[in-house]
Amino acid sequence: MLGFRLNDEQEGFRLAVRSFAEKALAPRVEELERTETFPRDLFAELGRLGYLGVGYPEAYGGSGGDMVMRCLLIEEIARVNCGFAAALLAHVGLGCIPIFRFGTEEQKRHYLVPAIRGEKLGSFGLSEPNSGSDAASIRTTAERRGDHYVINGTKMFITNGNIADYCLVAAYTDRARRGGGISMFIVDTTTPGFTVSRKLRKTGHHTSETAALAFDDMQVPVAALLGGSEGGFQQVTGTLEGGRITHAARSVGVSQAALEAALRYAQERVQFGQPIAKFQAIKFKLARMAAEVEIARTMMWRAAWLFDQGHCMREAAMAKLFASEVAQRVTWEAVQIFGGYGYITEFPVERFWRDARLMTITEGTTEIQLTIIAREIGL
Ligand SMILES: Cc1cc2nc3c(=O)[nH]c(=O)nc-3n(C[C@H](O)[C@H](O)[C@H](O)COP(=O)(O)OP(=O)(O)OC[C@H]3O[C@@H](n4cnc5c(N)ncnc54)[C@H](O)[C@@H]3O)c2cc1C
Repeated sequence: MLGFRLNDEQEGFRLAVRSFAEKALAPRVEELERTETFPRDLFAELGRLGYLGVGYPEAYGGSGGDMVMRCLLIEEIARVNCGFAAALLAHVGLGCIPIFRFGTEEQKRHYLVPAIRGEKLGSFGLSEPNSGSDAASIRTTAERRGDHYVINGTKMFITNGNIADYCLVAAYTDRARRGGGISMFIVDTTTPGFTVSRKLRKTGHHTSETAALAFDDMQVPVAALLGGSEGGFQQVTGTLEGGRITHAARSVGVSQAALEAALRYAQERVQFGQPIAKFQAIKFKLARMAAEVEIARTMMWRAAWLFDQGHCMREAAMAKLFASEVAQRVTWEAVQIFGGYGYITEFPVERFWRDARLMTITEGTTEIQLTIIAREIGL
């Protein structure tokens, strides 16, 4: 039981990740954001340290631990660089969990084990130019021909898509069954017919790379079918609560960063002969920001704890919804507290604000979370 505070193992882990983020990642953030590059060496280092294996069993090279610890990893990384946290999540969550839960033993050995070691980078290809929230409307198809499938289609907004070693690709194997006819394939990105159409320029999250992909008569062996059977997509989407919780952790991380920066600045910046933190208008802003971050974190931890107990659909959607909206308000107010400097790229709060804007859109938009919550409360 969580008991509303971290146990010794969780707290020790949080401190270790914070130390890594501040020593190894923080000094490189400016360069990574400017060059819009994912730091493959830091990813490998996280693998060597065992951090990518949190939540996975030792049999596959994992380091054990629970969902709360995976959230701590993401929150602490996002506090320093939300883009890097997003790329890590696309890997340890979307790129690994489906293989762990539904993959064949051979797929786990070939993809999951090196992924946990930081030797292979994963990605998850579901969204398409004309299909986002309505995932069942994807047009990518996989046609069986003897001992292989031929995949044709396009994918949009794929995190790590241009740099990953493999991609979990959603494609229709049976178009007659809307949604149920979608299968998942693990595709090596070196497969002939796999093309990165372009790397996408984004408003924020620059350390995470995002791409549009095209599959042109891409032949994959039958063994590439996730779990060895067709129609696995609905199984995979049934496990997305975990992604919503770690997404909330990312929102809490960027909110915490904005709060800390604003708190420091408000005590240093002097106007009218006193630090601006002395003005009630600013003091109340900071108090509200602190309260909102704390509530979002508590919801996220509770959802993580429930996840480990087996069911958290409602709480995961609530945590994702609330934390992503808190990130909007807190980063917005941080820019306000910084005044003109808040809008200047030499100060980090404008990055927090740009990064936060994505949080209500990915892993199910705010409107989709509300739809899930409405269903969960019987509407
Ligand atoms: C930086 C970035 C990284 C991403 N990474 C990945 C990735 O790695 N893999 C991947 O597969 N996808 C990824 N995505 C795609 C992301 O999951 C989608 O953008 C998201 O699901 C929303 O889909 P959409 O953009 O097509 O918007 P749409 O679904 O077209 O929605 C547009 C608007 O309509 C609203 N809306 C849609 N349907 C309803 C409804 N039924 N009721 C009420 N409102 C509705 C939405 O909430 C939204 O406000 C990424 C996107 C971005 C921007």
